[in-house]
Amino acid sequence: MLLFTPGPTPVPESVRQAMATPTLHHRTPEFEAIFKEARERMMKLFGMDECVMLASSGTGAMQACVMNLCTTKALTINSGKFGERFGKIATAVGKELVELKYEWDTPASLDDVKQALLDNPDIDTFCIQVSESAGGLRHPVEAIAAYIKSVNPEIMVIADGITAVGVEPIDITNIDALVTGSQKALMLPPGLAMIGLSSKAVEKIGKGQDYYFNLASEIKNQQKNTTAYTAATTLIIGLNAIFDEIEKTGGAEALYANTLARAKATQAALEAIGFGVYPTTPALSMTTIMDADAEAIRKLLKNKYGVNMAGGQDHLKGKIFRINQMGLIPVYESAWVVNAVELALADLGRRPFDGTANRVFNETYFKGSSE
Ligand SMILES: *Cc1c(COP(=O)(O)O)cnc(C)c1O
Repeated sequence: MLLFTPGPTPVPESVRQAMATPTLHHRTPEFEAIFKEARERMMKLFGMDECVMLASSGTGAMQACVMNLCTTKALTINSGKFGERFGKIATAVGKELVELKYEWDTPASLDDVKQALLDNPDIDTFCIQVSESAGGLRHPVEAIAAYIKSVNPEIMVIADGITAVGVEPIDITNIDALVTGSQKALMLPPGLAMIGLSSKAVEKIGKGQDYYFNLASEIKNQQKNTTAYTAATTLIIGLNAIFDEIEKTGGAEALYANTLARAKATQAALEAIGFGVYPTTPALSMTTIMDADAEAIRKLLKNKYGVNMAGGQDHLKGKIFRINQMGLIPVYESAWVVNAVELALADLGRRPFDGTANRVFNETYFKGSSE
């Protein structure tokens, strides 16, 4: 079965092997050397001044950022489940909240952000997804963050990059906290979350905001290559192994280029057989298709063609399917996926199979990458 869900993503063989080594104690020079290497590589991938790694899923890092950076009021963008989650976190940890809500195919509007800031001069934190995974949407994070900083550089910009870090280069000029997790583009098992921080964010982080997610104490420890509590040792070993694998295949630049080419080719192939892409501004992390037969297509792919792709949640349940583009995906696997979707259309009697999806996929991918 090909795992083509936008998280978790498949873990490469070399990474699984690296994580099969005997357990190390975390308070040892051996592990601290491994931690240091992972920390430096993560900091380079983020392109930021500081990095904190937490033993938690991605949501823990979102919560840590809200708790440690927001003191008065948060402005959150809700164009889907994960944006909604920022609002739920803010409420759960007792922060005041202004939420801008959109349909799941619609990116945040800069004008709405401008108005919200005018109406709420006490907003000190802005939370947004780079890529909102609920509908495969890319938000105009860079433009909104630049505007916010031009109005008030003290407002902390928290960007959830869980399906964007390792997918495309992100301009971090106006971002204070960039969150990611192990099980998306970094192709690790779930359980490790990482936060890239600006030096301004590091200055702002309060003391004792929370016990477990206390970023001040984590920064103090992690600068010494250790963690406040037991580190996720196995996942950090795996993190170095995935960085090795990424370097072997041309480094981050090649990963970004291949992801872009695959995402474009998948979109072109599916459009060529009559599908429409759901979001108005699609993210590169996944290809999201809205279709009345979404559930039937997904079932055929799983049961007949050996491909596990994701459906939709809440009001999009049964209405969309999402094909992962994150990670080191062999191009022939992606070609197989669009071919399988075309076969499923023939099974449903919608369109005779003639290999169009595969042809368009290959034309787009290989023409694009040879130019
Ligand atoms: C997967 C994901 C998360 C985090 O989910 P966890 O299950 O807590 O790891 C957060 N934001 C986005 C955009 C995601 O895709």
